[in-house]
Amino acid sequence: MYRLEDFMADLERRNPAEPEFIQAAAEVVESIIDVVNDNPAYVNAKILERITEPDRVFSFKVEWEDDNGDVQVNRGYRVQFNNALGPYKGGIRFHPSVTLGTLKFLGFEQTFKNSLTTLPMGGGKGGSDFNPRGKSNNEILRFCRSFMTELQKYIGPNTDVPAGDIGVGAREIGYMYGQYKRLRDENTGVLTGKGRNWGGSLIRPEATGFGAMYFANEMVKAHGDTMEGKRVSVSGFGNVAWGAVMKATELGAKVVTISGPDGYILDEDGINTQEKWDYMVQLRASNNDVVAPYANKFGAKFISNKKPWEVPVDMAFPCAIQNELSLEDAKTLVANGVSYIVETSNMGCTADAVPYFIEKKIPFGPGKAANAGGVAVSGLEMSQNAMKLSWDAAEVDEKLKGIMQNIHAACVSQGKGSDGYINYVKGANIAGFKKVADAMLDLGY
Ligand code: GLU
Repeated sequence: MYRLEDFMADLERRNPAEPEFIQAAAEVVESIIDVVNDNPAYVNAKILERITEPDRVFSFKVEWEDDNGDVQVNRGYRVQFNNALGPYKGGIRFHPSVTLGTLKFLGFEQTFKNSLTTLPMGGGKGGSDFNPRGKSNNEILRFCRSFMTELQKYIGPNTDVPAGDIGVGAREIGYMYGQYKRLRDENTGVLTGKGRNWGGSLIRPEATGFGAMYFANEMVKAHGDTMEGKRVSVSGFGNVAWGAVMKATELGAKVVTISGPDGYILDEDGINTQEKWDYMVQLRASNNDVVAPYANKFGAKFISNKKPWEVPVDMAFPCAIQNELSLEDAKTLVANGVSYIVETSNMGCTADAVPYFIEKKIPFGPGKAANAGGVAVSGLEMSQNAMKLSWDAAEVDEKLKGIMQNIHAACVSQGKGSDGYINYVKGANIAGFKKVADAMLDLGY
């Protein structure tokens, strides 16, 4: 029998100074501990100890030259968390906040998220504390080459398949894939998120945002409601936010905010035209990491140094980074009458914000379920690469929608309480965990 407090105290002792990893683990362990204690096979197999320990962690030095000819040194990582269900799979993040603890939290989350997709993918994550902000194209190229020169030793199409994440989009995947091919002379699906002309899947760029909206659409339907006419706030302005605002618009909702590290945009007309969506892509490509110029261009408001959670909305979609929505923000949203929260970034809400939404019986879709569309289409990219053919956009989109509907159904089946409230956090954690744990039992130790 496991006791939650004892298990978590021990996990903290073994993983000092990794608060994000402990936060992610605590949420999962709390959800699943009764399921584990009710199943002697899980307890006897020490499943909790095994599932919270990464299979393997690589840390490496990344040396590169900046445009002044000065040598720069960053740290790169790949965390291979769990491969019970398939090759390690998960993105690469380039962001100054990246530490080993960050990537352990992300690799851990990824394991359960990938399990929820029903595709054969294990969980992993990688990245670097490299900050792309203000870097020239050539600096990004040199960094990516140097990063891949080391990373290629640990990955492979049947071993570990990285993709993008914060700070890593099609350009960076291209530079890394180019270096992989230079070194290995192989055309394989070793990375996903590739360009459409060189092995990528259609809909992959849109997939995380589209998937979150398909999931949200299932959430509202489960509550006898519709997306039509909903007022929506989105944070971030990157790839995930871009896909989210486009699909929200298509589903009849009106997105009124996006945000950056500099503040947020309030666009009461709605972020609902091709020109506005294209401008988001342009802003991101500039590498300045600011959203303010949108306000001048489209006559919207810019509120500096604040988050969009103070804006009254029906649905809120954190789409930027972990812990971007605090308890205080949660209270403001609830006081302003929010009806649904769909966490689209990984662990976008703080550890105290999540139980607050649940206590207030606000339907809350956790990141590992709501944002699984990105990695799901990565899984579909792997299938297409293995078959050496490519599906058209409609086919991929249809499969993505089906996967998100199934994830929603899995959350409901494991998370619906006797009072009818769907605890999506519990549902996603139990459904994601069971598949991985059962595979681990089947595979022995
Ligand atoms: N970085 C994305 C995630 O957090 C996608 C990972 C992938 O496509 O492998 O799920």
